[in-house]
Amino acid sequence: MDPKRPVDGLRVLVIGAVLKKAGIDVAVFEQDESPTARPRDWSFGVYWAQDRIQECLTPELNALIDTVQTDPSYRHHEASVLPIYNGVTGEMLRALPAPHAIRLRRRPWLQLLRTGLDVRYGKRLASITTTDEGVSAAFEDGTTEHGTLLIGAEGAHSVTRAWLFRSSPADGALQRVPISAFAALTTLPAPTALALMAMPSTWFIAIDPRGVFTFAALHDCAPADPAQWTFMVLLTWPADEPDEQAALARDSDRLLDKMRAMAEPLAFPFDAMVRGIPRGTKSGYTAELNYWLTKPWDGRGGRVTLAGDAAHTMTFHRGQGLGNAITDAAELQTHLRAMKAHTREELARAVAKYEREVWQRGSDVVAQNRENTLALHDWAQVTRSMLVVSGLSKDPSNCEDGEH
Ligand SMILES: Cc1cc2nc3c(=O)[nH]c(=O)nc-3n(C[C@H](O)[C@H](O)[C@H](O)COP(=O)(O)OP(=O)(O)OC[C@H]3O[C@@H](n4cnc5c(N)ncnc54)[C@H](O)[C@@H]3O)c2cc1C
Repeated sequence: MDPKRPVDGLRVLVIGAVLKKAGIDVAVFEQDESPTARPRDWSFGVYWAQDRIQECLTPELNALIDTVQTDPSYRHHEASVLPIYNGVTGEMLRALPAPHAIRLRRRPWLQLLRTGLDVRYGKRLASITTTDEGVSAAFEDGTTEHGTLLIGAEGAHSVTRAWLFRSSPADGALQRVPISAFAALTTLPAPTALALMAMPSTWFIAIDPRGVFTFAALHDCAPADPAQWTFMVLLTWPADEPDEQAALARDSDRLLDKMRAMAEPLAFPFDAMVRGIPRGTKSGYTAELNYWLTKPWDGRGGRVTLAGDAAHTMTFHRGQGLGNAITDAAELQTHLRAMKAHTREELARAVAKYEREVWQRGSDVVAQNRENTLALHDWAQVTRSMLVVSGLSKDPSNCEDGEH
């Protein structure tokens, strides 16, 4: 084994940063043609994994995290909350404790993580072969790369996961939760933008008796004109009939009309927020949400493993996906750093320790999030949902009544 080149990774740039920090030679292979090729952007809240980010990144990169927040002037603090409202009455139902929570814009966050990393673009993984020395990854552009460990971190639709489960494909396949979703990054009329910024938190949730879940978060407030600020607006609801799903997927005007109609009974500013999304705004529609209940895989003696959404695809209503992806990186770092020598056997042991932890954590969190998503869309169950009962904590069994 060439100790100078022990790892090839796909994505989760945190892992790339971690491995580089640990002195391990790593390359990241990304299917997109460039960092800006993907038009879709979003933001994510980090509720409990902040310390693990600190563990993963160099002091220089840690010092830059505030700059990639949705509001770079925001300073995290002990008393921050994520409010949940009754969307129809406007009453605040809960202020979920979110101590020291931060909210990161995906694109500049990835830009930060790429610093100093060997990232190869236009490399879509096609197939994997294991060898005595390690593993080879073949890409759709006809090239092949060799390394000692392949970390498949290509998100929900992971080619690596499909390869790991190729002898029993159903075990590696995504499953569906019958909940539909709309997401947009949008500007809003200035009075609405100012009303949202005046709320107790620049990210919040509204739920209501119809089973509609609304989430909004400030995305970018850099421009001086509030009418130029952008917000992420997300609505989810019990899945439509197949004919309607097909129509919404192909007709963005029809989709926006449906969102506007859904927002009609909502209180201000939730109604104005959805109804203020300009026609023509780029939006996404998902007919049913995906999940993959983590199952143990055969990593071929520490040659191939999974991380991030590839290892635990979950629904997003409790905002746990990124926190778990960061935890994967931190755990892997711990075990790789503990290797006594750069040998095939030591690497296999380190990866096995990582996998034992991620299999349990992944399976628990994916199942919890699936139940939570279903409960949030059923008014009779909402108050028993994990989000309302246990808040945003990593381990809901350890906290009562929103304590963290
Ligand atoms: C609207 C929304 C809101 C969310 N909010 C939160 C939140 O508040 N808090 C939170 O913790 N989580 C949140 N999440 C979840 C979070 O975004 C994900 O858990 C996280 O992005 C997972 O990162 P990842 O690197 O594993 O996968 P991804 O971000 O999906 O990245 C996978 C990468 O792999 C590349 N790729 C895919 N296939 C291949 C291939 N074959 N070859 C090469 N490259 C490939 C893709 O182009 C992509 O760049 C949210 C998700 C969404 C959609």
